[in-house]
Amino acid sequence: VSTPLDYPIGSRPEAGSTIEVKPGVLWVRMPIPIPGLDTINLWLLADGEGWTLVDTGLKHKPIKEHWETIFARHLGGKPVTRIVATHMHPDHIGQAGWLTERFGCRLWITQREWLFARMLSLDSLPEPPETAVAFYRRLGFDEAALAEFRSWGYGNFARGVTPIPTSFRRIRDGEEIAIGGRRWRVIVGEGHSPEHACLHSPELGLLISGDQVLPKISPHIGVYPSEPEMNPLGDYLASLPRLKVVPDETLVLPSHGDPFLGLHRRLDALSHHHDARLEALAAACAEPRVLVDVLPVLFKRELNARSRFMAAHEALAHVNLLIARGQVERVTGADGVLRFRATSRSEAAA
Ligand SMILES: [Zn+2]
Repeated sequence: VSTPLDYPIGSRPEAGSTIEVKPGVLWVRMPIPIPGLDTINLWLLADGEGWTLVDTGLKHKPIKEHWETIFARHLGGKPVTRIVATHMHPDHIGQAGWLTERFGCRLWITQREWLFARMLSLDSLPEPPETAVAFYRRLGFDEAALAEFRSWGYGNFARGVTPIPTSFRRIRDGEEIAIGGRRWRVIVGEGHSPEHACLHSPELGLLISGDQVLPKISPHIGVYPSEPEMNPLGDYLASLPRLKVVPDETLVLPSHGDPFLGLHRRLDALSHHHDARLEALAAACAEPRVLVDVLPVLFKRELNARSRFMAAHEALAHVNLLIARGQVERVTGADGVLRFRATSRSEAAA
Protein backbone atom coordinates (compact mmCIF):
# COMPACT_ATOMS: atom_id res chain seq x y z
CA VAL A 1 0.00 0.00 0.00
CA SER A 2 1.56 3.29 -1.03
CA THR A 3 1.37 6.12 1.46
CA PRO A 4 0.12 9.47 0.22
CA LEU A 5 2.99 11.94 0.49
CA ASP A 6 3.08 15.63 -0.38
CA TYR A 7 5.39 16.91 -3.09
CA PRO A 8 5.51 20.67 -2.51
CA ILE A 9 8.12 21.75 -5.08
CA GLY A 10 5.93 21.30 -8.13
CA SER A 11 8.68 21.36 -10.77
CA ARG A 12 11.95 19.61 -11.59
CA PRO A 13 15.28 20.99 -12.78
CA GLU A 14 16.29 20.32 -16.38
CA ALA A 15 19.64 18.62 -16.97
CA GLY A 16 22.37 21.27 -16.69
CA SER A 17 20.14 23.51 -14.58
CA THR A 18 19.12 23.89 -10.92
CA ILE A 19 16.09 24.69 -8.73
CA GLU A 20 16.50 26.44 -5.37
CA VAL A 21 14.49 24.37 -2.85
CA LYS A 22 15.45 26.57 0.14
CA PRO A 23 17.75 29.62 0.29
CA GLY A 24 21.22 28.40 -0.64
CA VAL A 25 20.11 24.84 -1.42
CA LEU A 26 20.08 23.90 -5.10
CA TRP A 27 18.52 20.76 -6.59
CA VAL A 28 20.39 19.18 -9.53
CA ARG A 29 19.02 16.24 -11.50
CA MET A 30 21.22 13.96 -13.60
CA PRO A 31 20.36 11.05 -15.89
CA ILE A 32 21.33 7.46 -15.00
CA PRO A 33 22.02 5.66 -18.30
CA ILE A 34 21.04 2.22 -16.89
CA PRO A 35 17.75 0.59 -17.93
CA GLY A 36 15.18 0.72 -15.13
CA LEU A 37 16.87 3.63 -13.38
CA ASP A 38 15.68 7.08 -14.21
CA THR A 39 17.47 10.03 -12.63
CA ILE A 40 19.45 10.91 -9.53
CA ASN A 41 19.09 14.05 -7.41
CA LEU A 42 22.22 15.88 -6.24
CA TRP A 43 22.40 18.90 -3.96
CA LEU A 44 24.51 22.05 -3.97
CA LEU A 45 24.74 23.88 -0.64
CA ALA A 46 25.97 27.49 -0.53
CA ASP A 47 29.08 27.40 1.64
CA GLY A 48 30.67 30.86 2.07
CA GLU A 49 33.11 31.45 -0.75
CA GLY A 50 32.19 28.19 -2.46
CA TRP A 51 29.70 25.34 -2.66
CA THR A 52 29.42 21.99 -0.95
CA LEU A 53 28.18 19.34 -3.34
CA VAL A 54 26.29 16.33 -2.00
CA ASP A 55 26.66 13.34 -4.38
CA THR A 56 28.03 13.59 -7.89
CA GLY A 57 26.45 11.33 -10.55
CA LEU A 58 27.68 8.33 -12.49
CA LYS A 59 30.83 8.39 -14.63
CA HIS A 60 29.31 9.32 -17.98
CA LYS A 61 30.38 11.97 -20.48
CA PRO A 62 27.02 13.81 -20.79
CA ILE A 63 26.88 14.12 -16.97
CA LYS A 64 30.29 15.77 -16.96
CA GLU A 65 29.03 18.20 -19.58
CA HIS A 66 25.92 19.00 -17.52
CA TRP A 67 28.19 19.73 -14.57
CA GLU A 68 30.30 22.13 -16.63
CA THR A 69 27.14 23.97 -17.68
CA ILE A 70 26.04 24.28 -14.05
CA PHE A 71 29.48 25.48 -12.92
CA ALA A 72 29.53 28.10 -15.65
CA ARG A 73 25.98 29.41 -15.20
CA HIS A 74 24.48 28.59 -11.82
CA LEU A 75 27.09 28.94 -9.08
CA GLY A 76 27.72 32.69 -9.19
CA GLY A 77 31.31 32.11 -10.28
CA LYS A 78 32.14 30.31 -7.01
CA PRO A 79 33.96 26.96 -6.97
CA VAL A 80 32.97 23.65 -5.42
CA THR A 81 34.99 23.52 -2.21
CA ARG A 82 33.84 20.20 -0.74
CA ILE A 83 32.21 16.98 -1.92
CA VAL A 84 30.05 14.94 0.46
CA ALA A 85 29.01 11.45 -0.63
CA THR A 86 25.99 9.87 1.07
CA HIS A 87 27.29 6.43 0.05
CA MET A 88 29.50 4.61 -2.40
CA HIS A 89 27.11 3.53 -5.16
CA PRO A 90 28.37 4.67 -8.58
CA ASP A 91 25.45 7.03 -9.29
CA HIS A 92 26.41 8.87 -6.08
CA ILE A 93 30.22 8.72 -6.02
CA GLY A 94 30.96 8.23 -9.73
CA GLN A 95 32.21 11.75 -10.49
CA ALA A 96 33.86 12.38 -7.10
CA GLY A 97 37.32 11.48 -8.42
CA TRP A 98 37.01 13.91 -11.30
CA LEU A 99 35.43 16.70 -9.23
CA THR A 100 37.92 16.55 -6.33
CA GLU A 101 40.71 16.89 -8.91
CA ARG A 102 39.00 19.60 -10.93
CA PHE A 103 38.45 21.80 -7.85
CA GLY A 104 41.30 20.60 -5.65
CA CYS A 105 38.81 19.79 -2.89
CA ARG A 106 38.26 16.85 -0.52
CA LEU A 107 35.78 14.02 -0.39
CA TRP A 108 33.80 13.77 2.88
CA ILE A 109 32.36 10.31 3.40
CA THR A 110 31.92 7.67 6.11
CA GLN A 111 34.79 5.26 6.59
CA ARG A 112 33.07 2.04 5.50
CA GLU A 113 31.66 3.66 2.37
CA TRP A 114 35.12 4.90 1.38
CA LEU A 115 36.73 1.52 2.12
CA PHE A 116 34.13 -0.33 0.07
CA ALA A 117 34.41 2.11 -2.83
CA ARG A 118 38.21 1.82 -2.91
CA MET A 119 38.06 -1.96 -2.59
CA LEU A 120 35.45 -2.45 -5.31
CA SER A 121 37.18 -0.05 -7.69
CA LEU A 122 40.31 -2.22 -7.48
CA ASP A 123 38.45 -5.55 -7.60
CA SER A 124 37.99 -5.82 -11.36
CA LEU A 125 38.49 -9.22 -13.06
CA PRO A 126 37.80 -10.56 -16.56
CA GLU A 127 35.84 -13.45 -15.00
CA PRO A 128 34.09 -13.82 -11.66
CA PRO A 129 35.94 -15.81 -8.98
CA GLU A 130 34.74 -19.39 -8.47
CA THR A 131 33.40 -18.49 -5.01
CA ALA A 132 30.92 -16.14 -6.69
CA VAL A 133 29.82 -18.79 -9.20
CA ALA A 134 29.43 -21.33 -6.36
CA PHE A 135 27.34 -18.80 -4.40
CA TYR A 136 24.76 -18.59 -7.21
CA ARG A 137 24.88 -22.35 -7.84
CA ARG A 138 23.91 -22.94 -4.19
CA LEU A 139 20.95 -20.59 -4.74
CA GLY A 140 19.70 -22.76 -7.60
CA PHE A 141 20.94 -20.99 -10.73
CA ASP A 142 21.48 -23.60 -13.48
CA GLU A 143 24.66 -24.01 -15.53
CA ALA A 144 23.28 -21.98 -18.45
CA ALA A 145 22.56 -19.01 -16.15
CA LEU A 146 25.99 -19.39 -14.54
CA ALA A 147 27.69 -19.40 -17.96
CA GLU A 148 25.91 -16.14 -18.74
CA PHE A 149 26.97 -14.71 -15.38
CA ARG A 150 30.60 -15.62 -16.17
CA SER A 151 30.38 -13.81 -19.52
CA TRP A 152 29.54 -10.47 -17.83
CA GLY A 153 32.99 -10.16 -16.24
CA TYR A 154 33.46 -9.13 -12.64
CA GLY A 155 33.92 -5.76 -11.05
CA ASN A 156 31.39 -3.55 -12.84
CA PHE A 157 31.81 -0.96 -10.11
CA ALA A 158 35.08 0.31 -11.58
CA ARG A 159 33.39 1.07 -14.89
CA GLY A 160 30.88 3.42 -13.28
CA VAL A 161 33.30 5.62 -11.37
CA THR A 162 36.15 8.03 -11.94
CA PRO A 163 39.13 7.04 -9.73
CA ILE A 164 37.97 6.93 -6.09
CA PRO A 165 40.03 9.56 -4.21
CA THR A 166 42.95 7.96 -2.35
CA SER A 167 42.42 10.27 0.63
CA PHE A 168 39.19 11.26 2.39
CA ARG A 169 37.73 13.19 5.33
CA ARG A 170 35.81 10.78 7.53
CA ILE A 171 32.30 11.72 8.65
CA ARG A 172 30.58 9.88 11.50
CA ASP A 173 27.12 9.25 12.84
CA GLY A 174 26.03 12.16 15.05
CA GLU A 175 28.70 14.54 13.75
CA GLU A 176 27.58 18.07 12.91
CA ILE A 177 29.05 19.60 9.79
CA ALA A 178 28.93 23.39 9.38
CA ILE A 179 27.98 24.27 5.81
CA GLY A 180 27.41 27.92 4.96
CA GLY A 181 27.06 28.73 8.67
CA ARG A 182 24.34 26.10 9.14
CA ARG A 183 24.66 22.82 10.97
CA TRP A 184 23.98 19.55 9.19
CA ARG A 185 23.85 16.48 11.41
CA VAL A 186 25.03 13.13 10.02
CA ILE A 187 22.57 10.28 10.62
CA VAL A 188 23.97 6.92 9.54
CA GLY A 189 21.72 4.21 8.16
CA GLU A 190 22.65 0.66 7.20
CA GLY A 191 21.41 -2.08 4.89
CA HIS A 192 21.26 -0.38 1.48
CA SER A 193 25.00 0.27 1.75
CA PRO A 194 27.45 -0.27 4.63
CA GLU A 195 27.44 3.13 6.37
CA HIS A 196 25.07 5.41 4.50
CA ALA A 197 25.04 9.08 5.61
CA CYS A 198 21.85 11.14 5.69
CA LEU A 199 22.23 14.87 6.45
CA HIS A 200 19.73 16.76 8.57
CA SER A 201 19.55 20.53 8.93
CA PRO A 202 17.02 21.39 11.68
CA GLU A 203 17.46 25.08 10.89
CA LEU A 204 16.49 24.69 7.23
CA GLY A 205 13.98 21.93 7.93
CA LEU A 206 15.69 19.67 5.40
CA LEU A 207 16.81 16.05 5.35
CA ILE A 208 19.09 14.83 2.56
CA SER A 209 18.05 11.18 2.73
CA GLY A 210 20.21 9.67 -0.03
CA ASP A 211 18.88 6.22 -0.91
CA GLN A 212 18.01 5.31 2.68
CA VAL A 213 14.48 6.70 2.32
CA LEU A 214 12.89 7.10 -1.11
CA PRO A 215 9.32 8.25 -1.76
CA LYS A 216 8.16 5.81 -4.46
CA ILE A 217 10.37 2.72 -4.33
CA SER A 218 12.02 0.81 -1.51
CA PRO A 219 15.82 0.97 -1.68
CA HIS A 220 17.62 -2.10 -3.00
CA ILE A 221 18.85 -4.29 -0.15
CA GLY A 222 20.87 -7.28 -1.25
CA VAL A 223 23.18 -10.11 -0.17
CA TYR A 224 26.21 -10.67 -2.40
CA PRO A 225 28.80 -13.43 -2.91
CA SER A 226 31.33 -11.55 -0.77
CA GLU A 227 29.31 -12.24 2.41
CA PRO A 228 26.60 -14.87 1.84
CA GLU A 229 25.35 -14.89 5.47
CA MET A 230 25.07 -11.13 5.89
CA ASN A 231 21.78 -9.69 7.16
CA PRO A 232 21.45 -6.26 5.54
CA LEU A 233 17.66 -6.18 5.81
CA GLY A 234 17.95 -6.64 9.56
CA ASP A 235 20.44 -3.76 9.59
CA TYR A 236 18.13 -1.62 7.45
CA LEU A 237 15.01 -2.18 9.54
CA ALA A 238 16.97 -1.61 12.74
CA SER A 239 18.43 1.67 11.46
CA LEU A 240 15.25 3.17 9.93
CA PRO A 241 13.78 4.31 13.30
CA ARG A 242 16.90 6.45 13.90
CA LEU A 243 15.42 8.84 11.34
CA LYS A 244 12.38 9.40 13.55
CA VAL A 245 14.42 11.98 15.48
CA VAL A 246 13.92 14.13 12.38
CA PRO A 247 10.67 16.14 12.74
CA ASP A 248 7.86 14.94 10.50
CA GLU A 249 7.38 18.38 8.92
CA THR A 250 10.93 18.22 7.48
CA LEU A 251 11.22 18.44 3.70
CA VAL A 252 12.96 15.24 2.58
CA LEU A 253 15.41 15.48 -0.33
CA PRO A 254 15.76 11.91 -1.66
CA SER A 255 18.22 10.68 -4.29
CA HIS A 256 15.46 9.37 -6.55
CA GLY A 257 11.97 10.85 -6.96
CA ASP A 258 10.76 14.28 -5.86
CA PRO A 259 11.31 16.14 -2.57
CA PHE A 260 8.50 15.18 -0.22
CA LEU A 261 6.75 15.78 3.09
CA GLY A 262 5.60 12.84 5.21
CA LEU A 263 8.85 11.31 6.49
CA HIS A 264 7.34 9.36 9.37
CA ARG A 265 4.55 7.91 7.21
CA ARG A 266 7.14 6.87 4.69
CA LEU A 267 9.37 5.22 7.33
CA ASP A 268 6.38 3.22 8.58
CA ALA A 269 5.37 2.24 5.05
CA LEU A 270 8.88 0.99 4.25
CA SER A 271 8.88 -1.19 7.39
CA HIS A 272 5.42 -2.56 6.61
CA HIS A 273 6.42 -3.28 3.02
CA HIS A 274 9.26 -5.52 4.21
CA ASP A 275 7.13 -7.12 6.95
CA ALA A 276 4.59 -8.19 4.33
CA ARG A 277 7.30 -9.62 2.09
CA LEU A 278 8.90 -11.47 5.02
CA GLU A 279 5.55 -12.98 5.93
CA ALA A 280 4.88 -14.11 2.34
CA LEU A 281 8.34 -15.63 2.10
CA ALA A 282 8.06 -17.48 5.42
CA ALA A 283 4.72 -18.90 4.25
CA ALA A 284 6.27 -20.00 0.93
CA CYS A 285 8.97 -21.87 2.88
CA ALA A 286 6.44 -24.15 4.59
CA GLU A 287 7.89 -26.65 2.11
CA PRO A 288 11.69 -26.59 1.68
CA ARG A 289 12.39 -24.18 -1.18
CA VAL A 290 15.33 -23.36 -3.44
CA LEU A 291 15.98 -19.62 -3.57
CA VAL A 292 15.40 -19.11 -7.31
CA ASP A 293 12.01 -20.80 -6.91
CA VAL A 294 10.76 -18.22 -4.39
CA LEU A 295 11.57 -15.22 -6.61
CA PRO A 296 7.96 -15.06 -7.94
CA VAL A 297 6.75 -14.68 -4.33
CA LEU A 298 8.56 -11.34 -4.11
CA PHE A 299 8.67 -10.22 -7.74
CA LYS A 300 5.48 -10.18 -9.75
CA ARG A 301 7.08 -8.72 -12.87
CA GLU A 302 8.93 -10.72 -15.54
CA LEU A 303 12.65 -10.95 -14.73
CA ASN A 304 15.36 -10.99 -17.40
CA ALA A 305 18.71 -12.76 -16.94
CA ARG A 306 20.40 -9.86 -15.14
CA SER A 307 17.44 -8.84 -13.03
CA ARG A 308 17.08 -12.46 -11.82
CA PHE A 309 20.49 -12.10 -10.17
CA MET A 310 19.50 -8.77 -8.60
CA ALA A 311 16.23 -10.31 -7.43
CA ALA A 312 18.15 -13.22 -5.88
CA HIS A 313 20.27 -10.73 -3.89
CA GLU A 314 17.10 -9.14 -2.52
CA ALA A 315 15.32 -12.43 -1.84
CA LEU A 316 18.35 -13.74 0.04
CA ALA A 317 18.35 -10.58 2.16
CA HIS A 318 14.79 -11.42 3.22
CA VAL A 319 15.64 -15.09 3.80
CA ASN A 320 18.71 -14.23 5.87
CA LEU A 321 16.61 -11.99 8.14
CA LEU A 322 14.11 -14.85 8.62
CA ILE A 323 17.06 -17.12 9.49
CA ALA A 324 18.39 -14.54 11.98
CA ARG A 325 14.93 -14.46 13.60
CA GLY A 326 14.86 -18.26 13.80
CA GLN A 327 11.83 -18.50 11.50
CA VAL A 328 13.60 -20.22 8.60
CA GLU A 329 16.53 -22.63 8.46
CA ARG A 330 19.09 -23.28 5.77
CA VAL A 331 19.82 -26.89 4.76
CA THR A 332 22.10 -28.17 2.02
CA GLY A 333 20.49 -30.70 -0.32
CA ALA A 334 22.26 -33.81 -1.70
CA ASP A 335 22.73 -31.77 -4.92
CA GLY A 336 24.70 -29.08 -3.01
CA VAL A 337 21.87 -26.56 -3.51
CA LEU A 338 20.49 -24.78 -0.44
CA ARG A 339 16.90 -25.34 0.70
CA PHE A 340 15.15 -22.88 2.98
CA ARG A 341 12.37 -24.15 5.21
CA ALA A 342 10.21 -22.66 7.93
CA THR A 343 10.96 -23.78 11.48
CA SER A 344 8.42 -24.66 14.16
CA ARG A 345 9.08 -21.20 15.55
CA SER A 346 7.70 -19.74 12.34
CA GLU A 347 4.49 -21.77 12.76
CA ALA A 348 4.17 -20.59 16.35
CA ALA A 349 4.53 -16.99 15.12
CA ALA A 350 1.80 -17.50 12.52
ZN1 LIG B 1 22.41 3.49 -3.51
